[in-house]
Amino acid sequence: MRLITLEEHFASPNWLDTAGRETKELAANPNTPYHEIPAKLVDLGKQRVAEMDAAGIDLQILSLNAPGVEQLDEAEAVASARETNEYLAEAIKAYPTRFGGFAALALARPTEAVKELERAVNDHGFVGANINGHIQERYLDNQFFWPVLEAAEALGVPIYLHPTQPPKAVVEAYYSGFSPELTSILSKPGWGWHIETAVHVIRIILGGVFDRFPKLQIIVGHLGEGLPFMQERMNAVLNPRLTKLKRPVGEYLRENVYYTTSGWNYKSSFQNMLSEVGVDRIMFSCDYPYGSMSKSKAFLEGLSISESDKAIIAHQNAEKLMKL
Ligand code: ZN
Repeated sequence: MRLITLEEHFASPNWLDTAGRETKELAANPNTPYHEIPAKLVDLGKQRVAEMDAAGIDLQILSLNAPGVEQLDEAEAVASARETNEYLAEAIKAYPTRFGGFAALALARPTEAVKELERAVNDHGFVGANINGHIQERYLDNQFFWPVLEAAEALGVPIYLHPTQPPKAVVEAYYSGFSPELTSILSKPGWGWHIETAVHVIRIILGGVFDRFPKLQIIVGHLGEGLPFMQERMNAVLNPRLTKLKRPVGEYLRENVYYTTSGWNYKSSFQNMLSEVGVDRIMFSCDYPYGSMSKSKAFLEGLSISESDKAIIAHQNAEKLMKL
């Protein structure tokens, strides 16, 4: 069965020395399990392809490692998006059947972000964009960013919304009061990243983005960042009389949002997502190099669903959405 994965990361050496310094620092800390991460992120060659072959992964759609360029100052963000997109474009040129790309965009300058998205899609064959959460504490419901959303809809490409650390005030209020190490992990992969991303999607819906751009498609990882679990509650409480939206919140969650597994190989949470959003909205992913390709594949194979549903999740939804 063809396996396409969508939340798979890379970094350029230059990015690791600038916006991605924290990734390097974490790898150097003997208390973390991230020693090999920087080397794996910059490798877009034989070694990565060999690992894909060993696990049976056919195609990785790659995106810049979090926190991407979203927290950089404007001019730096423009330059870094361009540099990392070029690094990725070279790899796609070298392995056109094995790698695809989501573009990094300097959203703080929407006009330039639109140009970069068009360039990445039209000149380099990228299949969408990857946005790492809030842009210096502004979210995509803010109409300042809507030219980029309009461009994505017009190009027919999805936006992958990847987690990032919540704004400083949120970290202070929600996650402080523990050891610095525990606060850091709790505010990021232990909880904060995922809730932050879910809130971002809810803001996008409530801000009327999908009423304005009805064909726009957003992808979120990690079994839906809690959104499928909460959709009935939101339907009940955030009703259209209150929201002034055209449709109930759950309809946007099932018609404008896709969900990937991205290395969260948790059966009961997967089953909940499947029953809430349906098989046509779910896509397979590993979150490499943080998640294991072979373990994720074993998870997909071991699910108690039909072979035809596995094929829909493994490749057919991605093929349709991104014309792969
Ligand atoms: Zn990720």
